Amino acid sequence: MTLSKTDRESNNLAALRLMLAALGDKAYDTKLFDSTEAQFAAVILRTTWEELVRENYVDRVTATQYRLSPKGWLTALEASGVVQSEMFMRRVGRILALLKKHVDGRKDSAFIPFQSLVLGSGEPEGFLFNIIDSRASTTLNSGRIGAKWHDNQKGRLVFIPVDFNLEPTDIASSLTAEHLRKIEELEEDRAQFHCPHCDSRMIGGGQQDFPEYHCIVTYEEYACGMVTADGEEDHPCPFGPNWPTPEEFDLRSENHGTFWTCYCHPKTARARTISGIQEYGDTREEAESKARAAVAPKKKGPLR
Ligand SMILES: [Zn+2]
Repeated sequence: MTLSKTDRESNNLAALRLMLAALGDKAYDTKLFDSTEAQFAAVILRTTWEELVRENYVDRVTATQYRLSPKGWLTALEASGVVQSEMFMRRVGRILALLKKHVDGRKDSAFIPFQSLVLGSGEPEGFLFNIIDSRASTTLNSGRIGAKWHDNQKGRLVFIPVDFNLEPTDIASSLTAEHLRKIEELEEDRAQFHCPHCDSRMIGGGQQDFPEYHCIVTYEEYACGMVTADGEEDHPCPFGPNWPTPEEFDLRSENHGTFWTCYCHPKTARARTISGIQEYGDTREEAESKARAAVAPKKKGPLR
């Protein structure tokens, strides 16, 4: 039996609506749908599951089990008309007001544990998860990034930008798969101008001509200190994997009468990319401990 394109599309939408109804307020990344279960088997064709996987609406988890992707959840919301309901808008409005409260009167963006948002909102954890995870609060017209997981700490820590200010009416238009696709494009563009390890901004760049080698090298410098030459790390990001370990340096201290200097001599090629570090102190111990801290890889804390 061969189905027309229209029939296939309507079966796809029926499947998404059915999954949304079964999902309720649970998080879409943990709720599995079994294609052999009667309620699904009766309605959803085998080829529909295949098409939904191919089009990235669902992920296949086991041979017969599937779960909705962010795109699938958003499309299901559109297809079922839930987004337009007054009840839905009220719930989303409450969540937006809560997110906004966390940055009101602040100078900086906020990082809030997801669980404390759950407690504060009174909404089911899964519903709140879906709203954050689907990036529903990013406004594209102003290019502003909305609330999102911090550093891919999905379900743990939520980043709320300092200028977060969104009305519930903005949300109805943003809860679409098309919106999500645009956000993903925007972030891809943005990633080109940020350090891939720590997300620091690019602060400078330029080209240098090496006539003796007949080549022109493009340099980019980032706020974290990373410098790339034609995309390769010339000076590594202290948060990235190319930063050396303290064991890759020989620490040598010298007494200058009233103070000590500790020099970090690189022992490996990787360590040589950050050579030239020296620290001072009133005592040898002080100079050495400052030098060890200066060459240690940095860990990114949520409240940096
Ligand atoms: Zn960096």
